[in-house]
This record gives sequence, C-alpha cells and structure tokens, in this order.
Amino acid sequence: MKSFSRIAALALLCVLVVPLGMLSFGDEKPLDGFSANSSRAERQWEEKFRAIPKPENMRAYMEHLSARPHNVGTPYDKENAEWIAAKFKEWGLDTHIETFDVLFPTPKERAVELVEGGPKFVAKLEEPTVSQDPTSNQHAEQLPTYNAYSKDGDVTAPLVFVNYGIPEDYEQLARLGVSVKGAIVIAKYGRSWRGIKPKVAAEHGAVGCLIYSDPNEDGFKQGETFPNGPWRPEQGVQRGSVADDPIYPGDPLTPGVGATKTAKRLEVKDSPVITKIPVLPISYGDAKPLLEALGGPVAPRAWRGGLGMTYHIGPGPAKVHLKVKSNWDLKTIYDVIGKIPGSTNPDEWVIRGNHHDAWVNGAEDPISGLVAVMEEARGMSELVQQGWKPKRTIIFCAWDAEEPGLIGSTEWAEEHHDELQKHAVAYINSDTNGRGYLFAEGSHSLEKFINNVARDITDPETNLSVWKRHQLFVIANASGEQERKEIRNRPDWRIGALGSGSDYGSFQQHDGVAALNIGFGGEDGGGIYHSIYDDFYWYTHFSDTDFVYGRALAQTGGTAVMRLADAELLPFEFGDFTDTIKSYVADVKNLANKMRNDAIERNRELDEGLFSATADPRQKPASVAPPREEVPPYLNFAPLDNAVDALTQASAEYRKALDAASANGGALASASLAEVNQMLIDNEQQLTLEKGLPGRPWYKHYIDAPGQYTGYAAKTLPAVREAIELKRWKEADEEIVVTSKVLETEAAHIRTAAEKLSAALR
Ligand SMILES: [Zn+2]
Repeated sequence: MKSFSRIAALALLCVLVVPLGMLSFGDEKPLDGFSANSSRAERQWEEKFRAIPKPENMRAYMEHLSARPHNVGTPYDKENAEWIAAKFKEWGLDTHIETFDVLFPTPKERAVELVEGGPKFVAKLEEPTVSQDPTSNQHAEQLPTYNAYSKDGDVTAPLVFVNYGIPEDYEQLARLGVSVKGAIVIAKYGRSWRGIKPKVAAEHGAVGCLIYSDPNEDGFKQGETFPNGPWRPEQGVQRGSVADDPIYPGDPLTPGVGATKTAKRLEVKDSPVITKIPVLPISYGDAKPLLEALGGPVAPRAWRGGLGMTYHIGPGPAKVHLKVKSNWDLKTIYDVIGKIPGSTNPDEWVIRGNHHDAWVNGAEDPISGLVAVMEEARGMSELVQQGWKPKRTIIFCAWDAEEPGLIGSTEWAEEHHDELQKHAVAYINSDTNGRGYLFAEGSHSLEKFINNVARDITDPETNLSVWKRHQLFVIANASGEQERKEIRNRPDWRIGALGSGSDYGSFQQHDGVAALNIGFGGEDGGGIYHSIYDDFYWYTHFSDTDFVYGRALAQTGGTAVMRLADAELLPFEFGDFTDTIKSYVADVKNLANKMRNDAIERNRELDEGLFSATADPRQKPASVAPPREEVPPYLNFAPLDNAVDALTQASAEYRKALDAASANGGALASASLAEVNQMLIDNEQQLTLEKGLPGRPWYKHYIDAPGQYTGYAAKTLPAVREAIELKRWKEADEEIVVTSKVLETEAAHIRTAAEKLSAALR
C-alpha cells in the first residue's frame, strides 16, 4: 500500500468554526462528535445505507465463495481473492491485492492406531460424504484432517486421558499419581485454545498429543447431528492451527516484519511457535476405541464426556502409534484491499475487515461475516454515487490465511506498521456470523461508541434495537441480583477485552490501533467448526438461513464505519474505559489475595494430615498429597490505585470539555479540532510499550493480550496478571510499576486532549 500524503491540517490557520456536540436543534440529540447540522445529515446517510444490504446478495456471494475448498495455497483461495477484488472494483473502490509468502504446512502422512491394550484399531482420519450435502464429496480438494504447525513425528507410547489438557488438569493428574512422561496424551477440545494442549503436554514430558471432539462439547449430547441437525457427526473433525500464537501470531518465519519475497526468514526448525511434539485432531468415532482401551483410575466426574462409557485415565494398557508428516512449503497469500478515499481527511483511515480463507469450504467461518462486509462496501459505494463524501478514507480488507494463525492481517499490519500508527483511526473486525444477539468486544475507548451504534440497529427477530436485546440477554444470564442491578443501571453494556482468535490482534496488540470485533450469535449452535460440513448446505439449513442477521451485521458494521469516517470530533470516550480499568485492577488484586489464601489453606490442610486421612487406601495408584506452597508475599498495588485515580480525573476533564463544547454551541476552530483528533488517533498507542510484554516482545499492549496458557481468552493487565498466575512475585511487583506508568501516560494524554478541546472553545 502506498502512503497517503498527509494534509497539513494544522498549518492551515483556519478560522472556520464548526458547531459540534450535544446542542440540540430539533428534538433529536446530535450524535457524539457531530454538530446538530452534520448529525442530521449523517443520520440521513446512515438510514439510506441501512436500506441497501440485501440478504439475497449475501446468499449468492456465499454460494459462490464456499463452492469449493479454499484453504491457503489452493487455486480457489486465489480465485476467491480475485473475485472479491473484481467486485470491489466494480463498485468503484480503489482496489489491489497484496501478497505475502508464508509457511503453511500441509499433511503428507498421518496415522493413529491402537497397537496394544485392545482390539487392533486404525483410525479413519476422514470425514465421509453426506449424500444430501452437495459439497461434502469434494474429497480431492479437501485438506485432510490435521493440526497445522504440528512438528513431524512418529511415536508409539502408552495413552493417557488428560481431560482438556490445560494446566489445572495436570495438577489433578499429579494428585492421582499419574504421569504423562513418555506418553501420548488424548485431550478433549474446549476450554482453551487448541495450541495450549500440545504445549502443556510437552512441558509435562508427553511425546505426542491427540485432540478429539467429545459429543458433550459439540456433538449428539447437544442436539441432533448433521445432516439431521447442526451438531458434529461421529466422524466430524475440527482442524486448526496449533502454533504457539501467544508468543507471536502470523507467519512463523518472519516475526515482526511483513513476509515479503525478500524478508529475512527463520529456519523452520528455529521457529519457536511450532509444537515440540506431534499432534493430530480426531473425531469421537476415532477416539472411542482408544478411550475404551484405557485402564487405570476412573476419570474424575467433571472430566467424563458424553460417549456413554466409563472414562479411565490410563496410562495404558492402550498403546498408540501416532505419525504426522507435513510438506513444509511456503505458500503465497492474497489480501484484498479496497479503498474509498476521504474527502477532507484522506490521511485518517477507518479500516474494516474479515478473512476470506477457510479450512475447507467455510460457509460459516468465515464467509458468513465476509458477505456482510462486502454488502457494506457495495452500500457505501452506492452512497458515494448519490453524493455522500466520507471525510476520512475507508479501507475494506478481505484477509487471507487467518485460519493458520491470523497471518494475512498480521503480515499486513507488520508491513504497514508505521503508516497504521500514524493514520489508523480504528480497525473493525468480524469473522463469522449467526442468529441471535449482537456481541462486541474491543478497545474500551470505543465502548460508548459501539453501544450508540447498537441502539440504532433493529433486531430482525424481535424488532427491538440490537442494543436492547443484548441488554435483556445479559440480564437473563446474570449471576445474581447484584449483577442484574449493575446491568440495568449502567448506561452502556460492557464490552469484553480482545484476546486472540481473529484478525484484530495485530492492529490492537502490536500496532496500538483501537479495535472492535463484532458479530451476531447465540441462537445458532452447531458442531461443524473447521470441518468439511461447514458449507453452504449446512449454513442455509441450520444458521442464519434467510440472511437477515447477515443484513443486521452489515448495518452494524456499516453504521460504525460511516460514523467514524464522518465525525467532526472522533467519538472516543474515556468514562467507560476508566470504569473498566478500575475493574481490571480489582481483578488482579482479588487474584493475588485468592492465591495467598489458597496457599495458606493448602499448607494448613497438609499440617492437619487432611490428605492422608481422606485418601482411600485401596485406590491404585495411591493418591498423592499436593506439594506445600510458598505463601505469596503481599504485593504493592498502590501504583495501580494511583494510576486509576489519575485516569478518573483525566476522563472527567475530557467529559467536562465535551459538555462545555455542547454548552457554548460546540464552536471549535477546525485547526484545534484536527489536533484533538490526532491525539485520539494516537490514544491506543499510549497503552503499548515498544519493549513488549515480559517474554513476548511482539505483544506490546499492556491492557489486553491472549493468555500464554489460555490462548483465545484475553488476559487483562497481562504483565501483572500472568506474573501472579505464574507465581513470580518479584516480577509481579515490578510489572505493577510498569503497567501503572503506562496508565499514567494514558491519563496525561487524555488530560492534554481535554485541555486542547477546552482551549479550542475560547
Ligand atoms: Zn474465522
């Protein structure tokens, strides 16, 4: 992408005055960041826009894009990119395809067999054709079931069932006297990102890892299986990457830089994100004979799945042979980038994206989200023809290679790092879409903004606003009276923090660009994730079958993009942000307290002889008392409390400046306005440090990061939280100081923005 020339807005000693803010002329309150007049015009354009997206178009795009398997490296992946680019061009977007060359292993040899401990069994490792489903028979083009970035290996070893294979499961195994050293572990999918399972298994000495889809999670225990219903059939398998993305996402060979032709590359053997042991995913059909051949202790109640058998842990007598071998080739990937240039602020970019690559046909993941983004692009192009002139540049992106590790977006965000830091207002992501409730997560400085957008979108099933329907949903699912009260009293619903798992990661956590992730779901369960059955037949029978939620997503994403592109003052806000940071600080304090209390209690129980008194002497192997714990020292949280105070004051000052703008009619000199807007663009970067998080310098954001041992789920205040979780007390105290400084810097930034906003009024 070429760099836009920056308009020297500050050099124009502009005496133009634009009225801005909340002063109301009609009965309608102006949109945040708009004057009464511009707000009225904006609302008219947005309403016109929301009438444009058509369910039948989205259905047709999906039918085309998911007609054949289109994983990275296939002809259809490239064809799809070119087809999307052609549509963008047809609609008048300034479009190009940007390519990178990335490591993408595909399987050459795979084997799982039971060689001892039960009847000889060879796993099928294949998903059969379903006769009603017309694309399920494209076997020649389907990527076999595998986990990308598994190390090559050929091992034969006793089997151990490890529940979900997360750290606490291994604590339980130790209590049961079971070791996985030299064993192959079999873990259920769920509870963590899949790459955590082989990582933790290897750390405990296992030599191989199988991951299977238990019917309790997404199979017949949930409902009718495909093709009678949406849930995972007996031979359905979840493919997926097991690269250690919490170290860094993107191409495993080019951390921190775009994987261009000439980029400096690591050797495959030196990439720290490739697993240390071989791993394969299997169906419950293939897992059952292996689990049935296990002896040893009966699995704890909470570990037992839905296979209608007694779950044992092992080790053995089941002995399993596991073999994985891949082609370790570089593949070219194709990011589609289409722009609508801004009329007055072309060097400020509002970015909207969704990936286009899939594991197989991928109708739900990712096409259901992508078709909404395409209708947004078409809709805005239509508005441009009608005379709409967005102030800022809008960039639509269809990413390649999200599935193997957020690669298309990461390489792009690395390649354009400096430009994005200067120009990017925000990145809005979606990935998949279904029926039900709007969910949103992201930068808390955009929390109020996305709440306001949600108030203007109509839910197609209830005709409530999607904001109201979401609020009622969280009230229905609240944990108790206190939580219900908070939800009812808080003007905005809370949005979650971003962890990992889709293309927003690099924008927020590496570049420091504010980001949001949006989509609908909650009424459309299913078990076809990353299988050959995630296809047009499944989606049009069991998910958003009439694409009315596709339209709702296009309306939500489009309204958000237009509002960010047109606002006079960018609608960032810091009250919700500060409120959320306060809750994160309370969380890490509670965590430290709990770990202290747990250690004291554990040691007390050891002193009392509790474990030997309650161990069944006939149990084999005998249960093992847990080790004595070092009691954590008290940590000094005062710097974080002071930082929260500074944020509270600064966000109140910013609010006051906004209100003052409203009270005097919102007259702002446009030169000062440009300065405040630039500060708002720079805001998310205040939350990053160039040196990155401890032990993983690629991740620069000190509020949000994916957990090193949870994966998808966000760790908030990650430097502090993970030091506490890993019992590194000295590091925890140091990281409290570092994180507090980040928050103090942010408070100073908000305060300066508030001063500039106030000064602009005089
Ligand atoms: Zn996806």
